[in-house]
Amino acid sequence: MSQEGETFFTIIGCMDGRCQEAVSLFGQDRFGAVYPDTITEAGLVGFFNKEPIDQQLLTSLKKKIDISLKHHHSKGILVFGHQECAASDAVDEEKHKQDVLAAAEVIKTLVDNEAVAVIPLFVKRSIDNDLSDWTAEEIV
Ligand SMILES: [Zn+2]
Repeated sequence: MSQEGETFFTIIGCMDGRCQEAVSLFGQDRFGAVYPDTITEAGLVGFFNKEPIDQQLLTSLKKKIDISLKHHHSKGILVFGHQECAASDAVDEEKHKQDVLAAAEVIKTLVDNEAVAVIPLFVKRSIDNDLSDWTAEEIV
């Protein structure tokens, strides 16, 4: 349940704690909603670059997406991968972005409502701050 006036969007991606704030800020700005429902796995988008895709993972994702959409009226979904992913060590950045796009396409098929946008993101260290500042960019 949620209180009247509380607004949500949905994040699907890696569990890496360095990325969550950057993706949340992107979603708050893009969707004009406050709270991210956050669905994570270590290196999540990497699950979508192999055939067959893990059905248990898809079932689990669908259940969580449904709750976010139906109970929280989520305004949209962000799917992300990121630099320096401990679970995707061997994957270069271009391939990693392709994995994000592939994940977003599959996740679209799990969403019953066509009006809900599914946006692919890549999260990187900010060039002007190599310490702790990460930013999320849409993959176009
Ligand atoms: Zn990661």
